[in-house]
Amino acid sequence: MENASIISRLMRRPSSWWHQFRTWQRTPISVAPLRDEQHVCLNCGDSFDGNFCPRCGQDAKTKRFTLRGALLHMIDVWGLGTQGMLRTLWHLFWRPGYMILDYLRGRRQSYFSPFKTVFVLAALTFVIAQMLPGEMIHADKVSVNIDRAPYDEKMGTATAEKLEEGMAHGIDNLNYIIQWQEDHYAFSVIIGCLLLTLTSAMFFRRPPTLPNATIVEHFYINVLINCQVLVVSLFYLFGRYALTGTINFSMPTGVSVIIYTLDYWQVYGHTLWGTLWRSLLSFFFYSLFMLLAIVLYFLIIGVMAAI
Ligand SMILES: [Zn+2]
Repeated sequence: MENASIISRLMRRPSSWWHQFRTWQRTPISVAPLRDEQHVCLNCGDSFDGNFCPRCGQDAKTKRFTLRGALLHMIDVWGLGTQGMLRTLWHLFWRPGYMILDYLRGRRQSYFSPFKTVFVLAALTFVIAQMLPGEMIHADKVSVNIDRAPYDEKMGTATAEKLEEGMAHGIDNLNYIIQWQEDHYAFSVIIGCLLLTLTSAMFFRRPPTLPNATIVEHFYINVLINCQVLVVSLFYLFGRYALTGTINFSMPTGVSVIIYTLDYWQVYGHTLWGTLWRSLLSFFFYSLFMLLAIVLYFLIIGVMAAI
């Protein structure tokens, strides 16, 4: 009897923590309260009450330079705002779907721009990967060995040679694209987001939370989820480096798929199963479109070589 009551008391605590966490997750971010004392703007001389000057926009908190102020000012030069980016990443990490809904519904000023976040995080990942001493693991390059003998017989040596040349050229180009993707990490992330926008808009049509979501809103959703994926892949980069000493900034695809699925669940508000099949179909078609693009690319190379 006594044991049971201890267990139930212990159980009650985590469940109430979980309940509090879930409540916090669903609560939109709160904005700093409005200051009601009178200010005289140091920039334009107008007097006003509130947090910012209504005439020129200068912060009411503006005062003499301090070391902390100078440091924040310096971070601002790189477009990192003052605290906006870290706060955005914090919310994106712990309540991704709800934060994205906040953002889409108009709470913009409290968060950092999603596109800046992608570029900053991608650049940061790339710089860190370059700076760490150790073996860098690159994306696999494509190589194909073609046995030309049967083609020589069928279409004549000259044509087969031409075709082989064309294929080799195509593979060189494909490897160039693979290398380019690695070197231009941020751009390839955005291209991936564009493709996922198409497929997620196909399968998450009329979601419960956003019944009339537009394709542009689907795009913002995917870009924001990708910011979270980039944060996790930074942890992956460090974790992997600590454990194995090798450097690889592309996370296993499965981890990204799980993050996307969880976030789609929160953002679109379908049931877990409803979310699962829609996500899996989105990713299946995403891979299919990628594959189609590559096949189309080789067809064009082949036709060009044959002409
Ligand atoms: Zn002013």
